[in-house]
Amino acid sequence: MYMEKRFFLETFGCQMNVVDSERIVDLLQEIGYRQVVQPDDADLILLNTCAVRDKAERKVYGHLGRYKPLKEKKPALILGVGGCVAQQEGEKLLAKLPYLDLVFGTHNVHKLPEMVRAVENNRVRCHETEFLDQETRLQLFPTRILGDTVTRFVTIMQGCDNFCSYCVVPHVRGREISRPSADILHEVRELAAAGVREITLIGQNVNSYGCKGEGEISFARLLAEVDGVPGIERIRFTTSHPKDLSDELIDCFGLLKKLCNHIHLPVQSGSDRILQMMNRGYSRGQYLDKVRRLHAVCPDIRLTSDIIVGFPGETEEDFEATLSLMAQMRYADVFSFIYSPRPGTAAAELPDTLEPAVRQARFERLLALQEEISRNWRDADQGQVFEVLVEGESRQGNGQMFGRTTWNRIVNFEGDRSLAGQVVPVRITRVFRNSHLGEMV
Ligand code: SAH
Ligand code: SF4
Repeated sequence: MYMEKRFFLETFGCQMNVVDSERIVDLLQEIGYRQVVQPDDADLILLNTCAVRDKAERKVYGHLGRYKPLKEKKPALILGVGGCVAQQEGEKLLAKLPYLDLVFGTHNVHKLPEMVRAVENNRVRCHETEFLDQETRLQLFPTRILGDTVTRFVTIMQGCDNFCSYCVVPHVRGREISRPSADILHEVRELAAAGVREITLIGQNVNSYGCKGEGEISFARLLAEVDGVPGIERIRFTTSHPKDLSDELIDCFGLLKKLCNHIHLPVQSGSDRILQMMNRGYSRGQYLDKVRRLHAVCPDIRLTSDIIVGFPGETEEDFEATLSLMAQMRYADVFSFIYSPRPGTAAAELPDTLEPAVRQARFERLLALQEEISRNWRDADQGQVFEVLVEGESRQGNGQMFGRTTWNRIVNFEGDRSLAGQVVPVRITRVFRNSHLGEMV
């Protein structure tokens, strides 16, 4: 009897991995695998991994350890690792973990079907972590025309050439490449026709889009083109680097109707000395200057940021510069991280004498300050009416619907399922840490 095979996929990390995982799902379905939600039911378990911080990497080993007993019970089970840890460790992973069958890197998702077949048929262990040339990568850009959701990610560039001194991304994702704008626009038009209403253009550094390819349009121009696609209601993008935030791009926030009034603009530190050591390519003053211009063209804009605490050599004074920048910026939200050294990065070579307890204490001060600022933003929303793009049924499973404000804030409210895809006015009745509760008006 023919037995359908089942796979379980776990995804860690950023939006790039989310998109790669969608591709993995498609590829495995093409070779007869069905996705399941319990690892115990699976014939194939895959982890799409993140290496950006030590904690993320350790989590991968933790999860793999949990699957080991499953493999002992069911020797035919195939266990594989992809994504950034796979890219970073390569073949070494197979040596470290004798129960692992396959390792595929960030440029090798397309090889997965072949690799799974090889393991199934010959019980060989295999790894593919070669970086590909530009030409091949351009042909493999993830595209997925599916109208099953109101919002979708569209990949516009991959890799990163910035080499921020702490960051492993350029090492595990490879050089920066931009996808031809014609392909992007084709995908956006198809998605709009299939019912998608909001597009998030994604890449490690979207605002350097097109800079390195001859004859390509700028990122601002690309936004304007997407703005003109009928059916699309909202546009977002992530992540953008402050040094590449051009005046032309800033102007988009005033000119383009569909572009949401939110930008994630990671500052990383408020100290010029640390910014320089991080190789960020801007000063505190330059950052604040760009933010001033953003507010001038779009007074309603809200910003979010990433901040690293405890970069090697960070003094109390440097740290206080970060706190003062946060107080000045009043970010709607901040994703903060304790620095961790990453293999192969320049910062990992720096002398580092900061005590873990000092890092932890600074981290907590930063969290406390941001929580106060974020709470102020939330409280200010109370009682106001906002336009919400309805995405579907609330994940809380209480029959409510959910959507987002232009600032990317989740709003839950009572409403009919048929509202999905529409923009509706909602009054905020209660505010919580991660979402608002509201009622349609
Ligand atoms: N391309 C994006 C995201 C990079 S990774 C960007 O440039 O903003 C996401 C965040 O992880 C970074 O913004 C940074 O704040 C954090 N991060 C990266 N490397 C880190 C490290 N070694 N230790 C702690 N945080 C790190
Ligand atoms: Fe990492 Fe800097 Fe590139 Fe972002 S811009 S991915 S932080 S190297």
